[in-house]
Amino acid sequence: MDDARWMSRAVDLAGRSPRSSTAFAVGAVIVGADGSQIARGWSRDVDPLVHAEESALLRAGGDLTGATLYSSLEPCSKRASRPEATCTSLIIAAGIRRVAIAWREPDVFVTCEGVALLTAAGVEVVAMPEFAGRARAANTHLL
Ligand SMILES: [Zn+2]
Repeated sequence: MDDARWMSRAVDLAGRSPRSSTAFAVGAVIVGADGSQIARGWSRDVDPLVHAEESALLRAGGDLTGATLYSSLEPCSKRASRPEATCTSLIIAAGIRRVAIAWREPDVFVTCEGVALLTAAGVEVVAMPEFAGRARAANTHLL
C-alpha cells in the first residue's frame, strides 16, 4: 500500500478545482484493495456544487470493499449545497472502510465532524498531516 503516492495525487487534484469563495478546493482518489485507482474527483469537476469525494464516489460504483479513499481535506459532515449528501455519509454508505486525509477542515464555513463520524462508523481514518501544506495551498484565498 502506497499511501504517500496516492495522497500526493489527491492533493494535486485539489489544485485543479475551480476556485470558490464558499467552498474548499479538494481532491480525492479511490484506490482498490489491489492497489489500482478506481476513481478520482475534485471539487466542482462535474457540476458547480459537487465535492471531490462525492464526484469520485459517483464514478466508482461496484464493490468498494477493501478500497481506500484519499482526500486532501477531511470529508464534510455538514453541507449547505446538498445537506442530505455529506461526503461522510456518502463514504459510509458506499462501504468504504478506510479513509486517508491530509488536512483537518478548519472552521471557516462549518465545524467539521467528518473524522469523528467516520471513526464512530468503524471506518479507519489515517491522518497524513505531512501533506496538509500542499492541501492548504489550493485554498489560501479562503484562509
Ligand atoms: Zn463534501
